[in-house]
Amino acid sequence: MAETKYIFVTGGVVSSLGKGIISSSIGKLLQARGYNITIQKFDPYINIDPGTLNPYEHGECYVTVDGMETDLDLGHYERFTDIKTTKANSLTTGRIYKSVIDKERRGDYLGKTIQVVPHITDEIKRNVKLLGEKYHYDFVITEIGGTVGDIESTPFLEAIRQLKWELGKKAVCVHLTYIPYLKAAQELKTKPTQHSVKELQSLGIQPDVLVLRTEKTLNEGILKKVAAFCNVDIDCVVQSEDLPSIYEAPVRMQDQGLDTAILKKMNQPIGEKPALGPWKSFLELRRKATKEVHIGLVGKYDLQDAYKSIRESLYQAGTYNNYKTVLTFINSEKLTKENVAEKLAGQDGIIICPGFGQRGIEGKIIAAHYTRTHDIPTFGICLGMQMMVIEFARNVLGYEDANSREMDEKTEHNVIDIMEEQKNITNMGGTMRLGAYECVLKQKSRVLDIYKQEHIQERHRHRYEFNNEYQKEYERAGMACVGKNPESDLVEIVEIPGLKWYIGTQFHPEYQSTVLNPHPLFVNFVKTAIENKTKA
Ligand code: GLN
Repeated sequence: MAETKYIFVTGGVVSSLGKGIISSSIGKLLQARGYNITIQKFDPYINIDPGTLNPYEHGECYVTVDGMETDLDLGHYERFTDIKTTKANSLTTGRIYKSVIDKERRGDYLGKTIQVVPHITDEIKRNVKLLGEKYHYDFVITEIGGTVGDIESTPFLEAIRQLKWELGKKAVCVHLTYIPYLKAAQELKTKPTQHSVKELQSLGIQPDVLVLRTEKTLNEGILKKVAAFCNVDIDCVVQSEDLPSIYEAPVRMQDQGLDTAILKKMNQPIGEKPALGPWKSFLELRRKATKEVHIGLVGKYDLQDAYKSIRESLYQAGTYNNYKTVLTFINSEKLTKENVAEKLAGQDGIIICPGFGQRGIEGKIIAAHYTRTHDIPTFGICLGMQMMVIEFARNVLGYEDANSREMDEKTEHNVIDIMEEQKNITNMGGTMRLGAYECVLKQKSRVLDIYKQEHIQERHRHRYEFNNEYQKEYERAGMACVGKNPESDLVEIVEIPGLKWYIGTQFHPEYQSTVLNPHPLFVNFVKTAIENKTKA
């Protein structure tokens, strides 16, 4: 078996250059050459995981199959490559320190003084190599969050320096930097990139490959200049221009030979250029899809990244229906009975978004009421599903005070209740019902038609749940519980069969929708939204 090779992706100059997309693209291109790959992310913050972070801090919290709450970049990794990431793919400074401190308390270090070097750096190195040693991947791609020069990313970079030294040709560093365009001077500037590479070099890391982010096409002269000033071979300098879609990135990177540059650096055979057939077909479909389907996202976070996976799932679903998905954020805090018709006007389908806490929930309930009574295709996800359930209790079952225990501990009609195993939990971090659970779909249900299989696995992130005591009442009144966990009997899906599309899922299907395997629920929801539009 060939030895695992390691690719480190670092970033310089500014954050938000798209390291996650470049890491995913590298993964995709190596995979297309038949390699078995995985991608891992190190985040330099102290939180153990992003689960306790407000989405305004760090965007969506992505959940892996094994129940780790992670950075949203892991969503990109999965959407691009169809790999399943796990706990081992997401680490933070907090987790590294915790593990070292736990070992110290156990006495594992035999009286030694515990220091950043070597103990923290060794723990980082162990976590990088673990993937290679335990799972025998051909390539482990490790993305380092933050920007070179940040105080907090220094231990990670020191670990990379050591690994590069130890592993020789089996490790490369791909550095992503920025080439700004100065409008007044009408010039593209390489200096920030030179400085960022110098910074890396001063930490003992010579980047092997440079990816230059730019808003304007860089000419050969600039690429040569960067190569010369940064000690990087010219065929190892590629540019990453702004693209109409992030999914174009692997093709652009392939055209410029990013994968071959990496393979050459590692003394690996190059072979033929993979065709990327299915991927290119997706891009082709996407380009051709110009007719628009309008989907409204009813939620409280007015931030693109807060519902990242839902957005991407809807874009993918649009493409597979030969439509372009146009998303509009509808702030649930501002929705009232009086303005709901106006705010939802023009939407062919509505997503009621996940979330936590009281803020904005009454607006979600108003939206659910409006779409149910006007038969507008509606998809409630997690908290969104719970709001559909509450709305139904209040307006159909006649329980005006119906609520979730999360919002009103004393409500008499707790149609959404805290899960039994959650009752005595006091720690907030990593204690929800997390990760993949099985769900069995009911015969003759719409969801069974959509999934075309009775047993499904979906990922969860919640503490509250449909209260089974009310199940019969709901079913009699027309809201059916059509998906259940076979062991705990928890209700995972509700639907109103008579409506065009009114389905709520306690789980998050968006975590499993990928470019080449779009999620059937999203594809079917968007299809129905399109039909709704064309019939209207
Ligand atoms: N706040 C709800 C719960 O904990 C829903 C969570 C979510 O939407 N992810 O059950």
